[in-house]
Amino acid sequence: KQSWMTRLKAGLSKTSSNLTTLFVGARIDDALYEELESALLMADAGVDATQFLLDGLKRKVKNEKLTDAAQVKTALRTLLIEMLTPLQKPLVLGRHKPLIMMIAGVNGAGKTTTIGKLAKHLQAHHQSVLLAAGDTFRAAAREQLTVWGQRNNVTVIAQESGDPAAVAFDAVHSAQARGTDVVMVDTAGRLPTQLHLMEELKKIKRVIGKASDGAPHEVLLVIDGNTGQNALAQVKAFDEALGLTGLVVTKLDGTAKGGVLAAIARTRPVPVYFIGVGEQIEDLQPFDASAFVDAILG
Ligand code: GDP
Repeated sequence: KQSWMTRLKAGLSKTSSNLTTLFVGARIDDALYEELESALLMADAGVDATQFLLDGLKRKVKNEKLTDAAQVKTALRTLLIEMLTPLQKPLVLGRHKPLIMMIAGVNGAGKTTTIGKLAKHLQAHHQSVLLAAGDTFRAAAREQLTVWGQRNNVTVIAQESGDPAAVAFDAVHSAQARGTDVVMVDTAGRLPTQLHLMEELKKIKRVIGKASDGAPHEVLLVIDGNTGQNALAQVKAFDEALGLTGLVVTKLDGTAKGGVLAAIARTRPVPVYFIGVGEQIEDLQPFDASAFVDAILG
């Protein structure tokens, strides 16, 4: 089995391969900057982050009197790491008991898969976990979570029908009664444009706060790394509605371009707690800015 780094590299290099080869034997001239600009845009970094990186790079080339394209690549690596390091924050465990996390995202982003992976991760860190099946719209989602919980000895609080906020409320009380370490409240997938569903998310958050003062302690958004600039729009919208504390960026082993993290760092620097690099339970890794930049630049 390939290491997660290999899969991340393989994924990101599919589209950012010109970032890895761009500098080989190149002259430092306008043509190089233009190629770099299109490579960054192609990688989904967005106009603002691309411009910021180009300006920074040109300044470095001038101030440090760089004459060799390999040095320019090293300078770009440094700039990218500086840009992404503020996103590198770990999910801190043990601050509250139970630690209550609410998980949101659009359909298909990888929310259910991520909750399963996260539960495993938490168990590996000696945390007991309880899941709230807050996706009351899709019976299949509830089933998926329940089956997953049974297989892994994780209690899942689910209701046949009804109000996701009530499921969350019950789950929090149940976790308090059992002395559980972490509660993860799943929510139904929704688009930020579905305003009534965004209101419902706010309600779930409010009700969790009624069940436990100061909760939820973490509000995570799961985004599909393949959706590029659209992922950025999701981060903005969900952050405005809920106040996000962290992100999980999934599917970076696929055809994701990775640059969206640069855009997030520039416009909505919400910490990236984890990245998803595959469909298996162990394919969730804490975000590491240097490793990520190495995977992009090769
Ligand atoms: P949800 O609708 O947000 O709950 O999405 P799911 O968890 O059902 O995931 C949608 C699809 O994406 C499934 O086929 C998952 O196996 C897949 N998926 C989720 N995370 C990753 C990842 O990090 N890498 C890859 N390659 N696939 C993933």
